[in-house]
Amino acid sequence: MHPRVGDLSYPGFFMHKCTSCGRCTQECPFGALELDDKKQPVLNTSRCRRCGICMGACPVQIISFADYSVDMLSAMIRAVEIPEGDEAKPRILALACENDAYPALDIAGINRLQSTAAVRVIPVRCLGSVNSILVADAMSRGFDAVALMGCRSGEDYQCHFIKGSELLETRMGNVRETLDRLALEAERVKVMEVAISDSDRIPGLLQELVETVKRVGLNPMKGF
Ligand code: SF4
Ligand code: SF4
Repeated sequence: MHPRVGDLSYPGFFMHKCTSCGRCTQECPFGALELDDKKQPVLNTSRCRRCGICMGACPVQIISFADYSVDMLSAMIRAVEIPEGDEAKPRILALACENDAYPALDIAGINRLQSTAAVRVIPVRCLGSVNSILVADAMSRGFDAVALMGCRSGEDYQCHFIKGSELLETRMGNVRETLDRLALEAERVKVMEVAISDSDRIPGLLQELVETVKRVGLNPMKGF
């Protein structure tokens, strides 16, 4: 996935399918979107920071960038190779914010910290650009758990896009519904708050999720 600096495009809207729900205008942390007289979102490019939060917010997935979209993330999840014969091992997908969590993972690697080999990482621009469809894709692909790694939310937030990680927390209701629909345990998806200076904590956090998988069992959809 190209990071934000590698894709200078602004979000595009496939307006034919827009339901005028206004969700994107409510969730944009920079007030860059407003509904016009026809109740269609209009973008103010001078305010847009290209974070992708509107993309994660749109319930009909009609918002995308030239080089960043829900379809691209789904394709990346489906493309993760799970070697034959590995079905009996836990496999965890980490969707990691490219601003903090991903560099922290990188630093953990540079420092040669020992960590579980069960994790495959895909960077995202902000956890706010993630929605429940991506979690469903990961589960259908056979992942046993998903780690959503982003910045600290709440009062002492560290999110570069103000409330991206906080919005993900509010979307977790949809994620839990998706897991219910798939008859899977809610513990399989874990939000992890990771600052760029938290590389030391990462192996422990990921190991905890591996232990959860061992407790609840492997994804029954694995191999189908
Ligand atoms: S990309 Fe971010 S800043 Fe730009 S319109 Fe979407 S939510 Fe707002
Ligand atoms: S969230 Fe999607 S469907 Fe709703 S107004 Fe924005 S673009 Fe249209």
